[in-house]
Amino acid sequence: MSDAVRKTIALVILIVGGILLWLARNPSNEAEAAKNHIDAAISEARERVASRDPRLKPAHREERGGWIYVHLEGDPATIGFQHGYELGPEIEDAFAAVSAGMMHSTQRDWPFFRQVAREQLWPKLDSEYQQELQGIAEGLNARTGSPLDVYDIVALNSFEEVPDYYVPWLNKQQKTANAPNLKSPGNCSAFVATGSWTKDGQIVMAHNNWTSYMNGERWRIIFDIQPANGYRILMDGFPGVIASDDDFGINSDGLMVTETTITQFEGWDPNGKPEFMRARKALQYAASIDDYTRIMLDGNNGGYANDWLIGDRKTGEIAQLELGLKASKLWRTKDGAFSGSNWARDPKVIKLDTPEFDPNNMESSPNARRVRWEQLLNENKGSIDVALAQQMLADHEDTYAKKTEPNERTLCGHADASDRGIAQWVWSPYYPGGAVQGKATDSNMAKQMRLVARMGHPCGLDFAAKPFLAAHPDYAWQTPYLRDMPAGPWTHFASGEGAAAAKR
Ligand SMILES: [Zn+2]
Repeated sequence: MSDAVRKTIALVILIVGGILLWLARNPSNEAEAAKNHIDAAISEARERVASRDPRLKPAHREERGGWIYVHLEGDPATIGFQHGYELGPEIEDAFAAVSAGMMHSTQRDWPFFRQVAREQLWPKLDSEYQQELQGIAEGLNARTGSPLDVYDIVALNSFEEVPDYYVPWLNKQQKTANAPNLKSPGNCSAFVATGSWTKDGQIVMAHNNWTSYMNGERWRIIFDIQPANGYRILMDGFPGVIASDDDFGINSDGLMVTETTITQFEGWDPNGKPEFMRARKALQYAASIDDYTRIMLDGNNGGYANDWLIGDRKTGEIAQLELGLKASKLWRTKDGAFSGSNWARDPKVIKLDTPEFDPNNMESSPNARRVRWEQLLNENKGSIDVALAQQMLADHEDTYAKKTEPNERTLCGHADASDRGIAQWVWSPYYPGGAVQGKATDSNMAKQMRLVARMGHPCGLDFAAKPFLAAHPDYAWQTPYLRDMPAGPWTHFASGEGAAAAKR
């Protein structure tokens, strides 16, 4: 065969192939388009039917300042249904990011987390919270048709306690070969002050949430919950999760609550009750610092071990509950200030629950921020108010390097700006994490069920995902989930917003 013939045959094959491909594709394109059309029509019809569900009548949702405010009201199943429905798209989106993170860090698959949820967590939940979680799955399905069931939702709720507390404990128990290095996270900078420390003697409480930007950018819900039983709650939170979880909340009987986690905490009690339930229950039912402490200690499983900062606006008293597993301690005062930046202070807790934590390493993020809190609170003793608290949450003073620079040691954390990482929490250099939002309130605001909150870094600096990922290919696995985190304005929220509109 001559070259010319060969070329002609090849050309014919190419043309015929192209035509066949075109013929083959077009009908399927039409079929595809038709299927999409039907899918869209079904989901629209489902949403239309579901939106008329009487359970949704008292619920309300609105977006402001980068936050999504939701009002939920009724019995546990109804509150859950409203939560799942109103935040359906956000729950699906958050589930994808959180489950990817859980699987990545633990090297366990999703069926593992579902099994833990079903066999270990679910049986320990009070029935009212089981009903609420079931309601979330149902409301989510009604809104988006999502196949996620209640065990997926329970596993999502456990995202702060199972991967970094239960799994390392399990790996140790099972002597898992090549177990990943998992450490309890260092989440947050916070303080609570009262008496002669504050401008007018009332309680002032503030908190910024430290987490991965991937999760933190999604931590943008303000929950206004009016439960059939217990007190009314106003708190920030995460889509699909029944506790605030970072945590910052107030209840209508005067309790004001926040926390920071205990760095390098180790331990888990498989017979205990999930932390996310105890934290939600305590905010819903505690009328005093004693109540709060009792509920958190009842069935303490060691998960997501925190230093809780608590205020009771009825008495002006504040407290710090250092909730280890083998040890715990409560400090309280009507004239003082407690701060948190992920360090344990009770010698017994340090010895028994955080054996690796070094309280004298001033280079570490928790200890460097501890020094800064002491400086700021002492310098401003007598003039602390919510406006000043907002500034403190945005502070960029690095007490170890003695310079002003946003990094992993500043109260407003920017670990992505540091080549040091935070070894204590296994955050490698330039880890895309830090302060992702901030909140503040005082006794007077809490009495009116009000708080002020800012999405994104409390200092107002924006985080841009694309240039970050281009500069740090180590974090490429986060590409599908990591988004920009622009800072929003400080925004006021109160219980009952939109209530009149919802009642119509
Ligand atoms: Zn900052």
